[in-house]
Amino acid sequence: MSSLLRLGRRVTNLRPLLSHGKWCSMSGGPDESSTSDDIGFSEMVLKFAEKATGLVEDKIISEDRRKISDDEKRIQAQGILGLILPCNAVLHVAFPITKDDGRLEVVNAWRAQHSHHRKPCKGGVRYSPDVTEDEVRALAALMTFKCAMVDVPFGGAKAGIKIDPLEYSVTELEKVTRRFTMELSKKGFIGPGLDVPAPDMGTGAREMSWIADTYSMTHGCTDINSYACVTGKPIPQGGIHGRESATGRGVYYSIRSFIRDADYCSEIGVLPGIAGKTFIVQGFGNVGLHSCRYLHREGAKCVGVMERDVSIVNREDGIDPKELEDYKLNNGGSIKGFPGAQETTENLLTAECDILIPAAGEKQITAEIAEQIQAKVVAEGANGPTTIAAEKILMDRNIMVIPDLFANAGGVTVSYFEWLKNLNHVSYGRLTWKHEEDSNNHLLDSVQRSLEAKFSGGRAGSIPITATPAFSARIAGASEKDIVNSGLEYTMERSAKQIMRAVREYNLGLDLRTAAYVCALQKIYTVYLAAGITL
Ligand code: NAD
Repeated sequence: MSSLLRLGRRVTNLRPLLSHGKWCSMSGGPDESSTSDDIGFSEMVLKFAEKATGLVEDKIISEDRRKISDDEKRIQAQGILGLILPCNAVLHVAFPITKDDGRLEVVNAWRAQHSHHRKPCKGGVRYSPDVTEDEVRALAALMTFKCAMVDVPFGGAKAGIKIDPLEYSVTELEKVTRRFTMELSKKGFIGPGLDVPAPDMGTGAREMSWIADTYSMTHGCTDINSYACVTGKPIPQGGIHGRESATGRGVYYSIRSFIRDADYCSEIGVLPGIAGKTFIVQGFGNVGLHSCRYLHREGAKCVGVMERDVSIVNREDGIDPKELEDYKLNNGGSIKGFPGAQETTENLLTAECDILIPAAGEKQITAEIAEQIQAKVVAEGANGPTTIAAEKILMDRNIMVIPDLFANAGGVTVSYFEWLKNLNHVSYGRLTWKHEEDSNNHLLDSVQRSLEAKFSGGRAGSIPITATPAFSARIAGASEKDIVNSGLEYTMERSAKQIMRAVREYNLGLDLRTAAYVCALQKIYTVYLAAGITL
């Protein structure tokens, strides 16, 4: 018997998860998931994936030219696809820290490594009082599919620490972060080739810097690549220009890819183009702020912002993201009282706008909200903001959902660039700037001399050739930021095309999520096949 046939049998207990592209119940009973919001987050992610699994399975079988029966092919395909869905490993740690007032507190934290089909595993660290193991598992699974979607060669992971960062002093947060890093390190859950965390809700460059420092001063002290153990670091610690804004920039590219496509726009009833569109964002943190910035820069108008303590609107003039960012920074992290907008008690998720960007927590768009949404496009800056039941309603109402595993993949894409930079120990552009500048100046000089030789008897300076302002700006070659941003733009545009191709191939209409999962699953499948899990 082939090893895959054996594998196929071994994983048959996973089969209730897979059912030919239809929504099915993990318990095997009647499936209520398409009408109810009440399923766990990780079950929700698996159900999104398994809907695509059936489509991928059929394609694998139809394209398999070997002279074996269809049943045999199906068992083999299911064997590998069944391997992709479950979470490989979850670490739960509980550790003490001493608070500033001398009290001892026990902190609970998790790290889930969903997939090791590629290494290292990659995924953010979230600080939130609502963190659960289920949430961390769900986010880790999403990371696997997200990385595959945008061709970042990592497996998925995620960490969550169950604390409210607003309730902790900087000293306490540093203690929590450093101790958590030690726990990860002792148990093989961090390392440049093993598992590489990044920022997520409630964390940023500061926390990543503590993680890098703790790891490289302890277990990583003999590893020259130790700073590649985490991404999203400050620049002096090996961070990369453009990482902080990357997720929001990616959200913008994801919207642009679909909203400039005449077919998709006519499907949802809007005119192509971002300029002139109105948008609302939920969560004005890292992802929300930068999504706003790029949309605003392109001429869209931010008419509302929802935060955890207040919602604000300004339909007339729009809200300036930079002014709101500055206000938030100088107002203890709150947007309450911002003079450039009015407070409102309206639920802005359902308010009038063209584009809605959930950029806070998961399961915010429930069936009830979905019925009332007025936006034409929902771009998922957050992970898992739309429930299965809500998505079905949105699709029925011809509202386009740009799914998380594509829309917010800009962060992990640039994290990948940062990791590569750390392994190379050189910043992008450093080796070529001078050479490019010299080459470009030689080119201008050569053109000038040729023209002078032909038209003015070789009189030096008679026909001055000067660079245009645009060429002058690029004459010294691309900066790290230019390279990162163009790499991100290319990645997002290419992934959008892949999603559009899958939509056409499987006739998925506005079901961009299933199309994205199809793309991701096919890629992961081929990795397993190439790894020798074949016959
Ligand atoms: P963040 O902590 O920087 O910002 C989150 C913001 O949302 C905060 O300002 C918070 O006050 C606000 N918020 C929390 N609950 C809210 C609610 N119920 N209503 C309105 N506002 C609320 O976090 P972030 O890094 O911007 O992450 C936001 C989402 O984007 C998360 O789902 C995260 O997993 C996802 N994401 C983040 C990144 C990244 O690079 N940071 C990458 C991919 C996905």
